[in-house]
Amino acid sequence: MKQNILRQEIMEFSPYVPGMNIEEVKRKYGLSRVIKLASNENPLGVSPIVEETIRRYSSYGFRYPEGTNPSLRERLARYVGMDPCNIVVGNGSDELIDLVIRVCCVPYKENVVVFDPSFSIYRLQARFHGAHLKYVPLRDDFSFDLTRMSEEIDKNTRVVFITNPDNPSGFALPSREIESFLSSLPPSTLLIVDEAYVEFSGDIDKYSCISLVEKYSNIGIIRTFSKAYGLAGLRIGYGIFPKWLCDALLRVKLPFSVNILAEKAAIAALEDRIFLEETLKTVEEGRNYIIEYLRRYGCKVYPSLGNFIMFSPPIDAKKVFGHLLAKGIIIRPLGSYGLEDMLRVSVGRMDENKVFIEALERLFYAGL
Ligand SMILES: *Cc1c(COP(=O)(O)O)cnc(C)c1O
Repeated sequence: MKQNILRQEIMEFSPYVPGMNIEEVKRKYGLSRVIKLASNENPLGVSPIVEETIRRYSSYGFRYPEGTNPSLRERLARYVGMDPCNIVVGNGSDELIDLVIRVCCVPYKENVVVFDPSFSIYRLQARFHGAHLKYVPLRDDFSFDLTRMSEEIDKNTRVVFITNPDNPSGFALPSREIESFLSSLPPSTLLIVDEAYVEFSGDIDKYSCISLVEKYSNIGIIRTFSKAYGLAGLRIGYGIFPKWLCDALLRVKLPFSVNILAEKAAIAALEDRIFLEETLKTVEEGRNYIIEYLRRYGCKVYPSLGNFIMFSPPIDAKKVFGHLLAKGIIIRPLGSYGLEDMLRVSVGRMDENKVFIEALERLFYAGL
């Protein structure tokens, strides 16, 4: 039956494999404590102000949220210094990535250009929609070859994705370099800059491309509450887009994809500057600490402006991953990015970082 009903290409997909989950690992290895440093989640968890807000609004659960989330969009507009008609919110930035592709690309005809490797959601949603994909290899040091990217763009290129800072490498380009690339794009090609990690860059003014949205009509920025704001489980992201794109998205977006508690939580998260500052401080200190030790242990480490570090260990990466897992430390192997000899570790709290580093030291120096 499924041959007759399903679109045939659907069977070429497999379910998304997220980082391993804590309960699973506890059960499998009989451990009571497991540390997850695999999905770039916030090391400090949820802001206490957000927790209180969710409690306070839990009785609103029977109400529908407001259709286009006007209060959150207004709050975000103030936060980024734009107009609310330049803001769209989504069920995670994943929803916005998906929708941008669908409103811009004619399936089986037009194309999306991405770096290889890059965040899998761009290519998965493009394939699902039927958009053609063109890949531009990253340089050996994982920096962006924007000249090469320009060469891939043709009259059928509707959307180009850049992740800045990049995942999994942590590489980032200052916005002025992205601007010179943008100014060379044909007006019929939209540049989407995914700034999921920009808060961790240490210099948002230098790295964020938000200011370009006022100057050019073919750039959009995607951001998320999943990382620096600690709301990955509530699923909320936002786009800073030209008005024409917001208008198009609001015509087709499912009206209630951002639920009422996520909306209240996001507004509260923007108020809690102290939590954000503590998060950024924890990540910066943890990042320096982990990088220093990984280098000492002979790993090849890539400089990172995200809340994670990509490295290549001196022994087989799969073995390192498996060894840490058995000790109750979950990190991310990068085979799915085509990087078999690389690993990515998210920066945790300092006590978690120490457990990770000490386990590596025992493995590298004593084989235990
Ligand atoms: C984590 C991440 C996101 C965030 O996705 P959400 O759907 O908002 O949780 C977006 N882009 C990249 C590159 C990421 O790594």
